[in-house]
Amino acid sequence: MTMQHVFPTYQRFPFAITDGQGVHLTDNHGKSYLDFMAGIGVCNFGYQQSQIQTAVTQQLKHIWHTSNLYENELQDTVAGLLVNGEDRLVYFANSGTEANEAALKLARKYTGKTGILAFQHSFHGRTYGAMSMTGNSHIQAGYAPLVPGITFATYNDDAALDKITPDLAAVILEVVQGEGGVFAGKRAWLQAVNAKCQAMGVLLIIDEVQTGIGRTGYRMAYEGYGLDPDIYTVAKGLTNGLPVGAMVGRRQLATAFGPGSHGSTFAGNAVAMAAAKSVLAQLTPALLTTVRAHAELVWQALTTQVEPLPVVKRVTGKGLMIGIHLDERVPVNQVITQLQSEGLLTLSAGDNTLRLLPPIVMQPADLLAGIAQIAQVLTALTTEVTTNE
Ligand SMILES: *Cc1c(COP(=O)(O)O)cnc(C)c1O
Repeated sequence: MTMQHVFPTYQRFPFAITDGQGVHLTDNHGKSYLDFMAGIGVCNFGYQQSQIQTAVTQQLKHIWHTSNLYENELQDTVAGLLVNGEDRLVYFANSGTEANEAALKLARKYTGKTGILAFQHSFHGRTYGAMSMTGNSHIQAGYAPLVPGITFATYNDDAALDKITPDLAAVILEVVQGEGGVFAGKRAWLQAVNAKCQAMGVLLIIDEVQTGIGRTGYRMAYEGYGLDPDIYTVAKGLTNGLPVGAMVGRRQLATAFGPGSHGSTFAGNAVAMAAAKSVLAQLTPALLTTVRAHAELVWQALTTQVEPLPVVKRVTGKGLMIGIHLDERVPVNQVITQLQSEGLLTLSAGDNTLRLLPPIVMQPADLLAGIAQIAQVLTALTTEVTTNE
């Protein structure tokens, strides 16, 4: 089957995912796969997870959508779970890019300033504001003029600190750059950026769209680095697969986000909120401890089985967000296709990097089986590459 009626904006693999159970997926030919991508970091709790499924099914029997013109207890409950005892407020959206748009608008309106500092190799989404803050010329190509006032610095570079000046409204960054190549920020550098922002009266926006909701073994990745952002954004993992986004900001920012200042018809949709409530209720300290322990086992396996391979330049990331940077002689798409044929679904990122985002609930046996399979495929490709030389 070749799709005929939709714009060809995606490079698609020639099969469709039609079913899922636990951490396994089935395609339209009946082939089954172990899932090491979670719908790009979305289905962190796997498929047909009984509590989420029950919550959504129950909500479907009541109301699917109401207008934001009315009070909404479910939204407030989810927002309360999200802020987790901190003095913050939530604005709901429908996607990661929309959450970042909200952050950009709020930062400019609250500070009365326009400048935004973003980073090379970042990804913040595809709408105009978020795309303009995305440090990737391929994503911006052909869409000029972009939103003005946005400049870029080098990630993890001390020289970036000098660019944090009082004329900026905000600095936006990912704690682990996802799409750009799975580059983790250095703890000391991230903390220095945070401190410089505070000293200069510049808001720090952390994009947790990919890193949040347990992905790195913390509710939000910034918690694992001891950071204190003014605003953070989440989306992907928040509902385990229904459209959602959320921007979380300090309470005092509310003066710039009063009635009529921002909004969206679908935002905070009841079915999505039912799923988010279930996800957040299950994102307990005990689960996060387990995720960190499982990630530790995975990183041991990566260090011993994958990193030493001649076609692997290095392995980067944090928790269950992993980038295997490959030698140019081994195109990442060839590796992904080979793994697919052997029943393992993976992703790419940045520059020839194999990206792994397994559901955070995956058990060690499956996690380690997947890593062993990747090591085996990379070993076979190494032999091919070296015998061809
Ligand atoms: C995926 C992603 C986005 C965009 O989210 P959408 O829901 O696709 O709009 C923004 N920021 C980061 C870090 C992402 O990984």
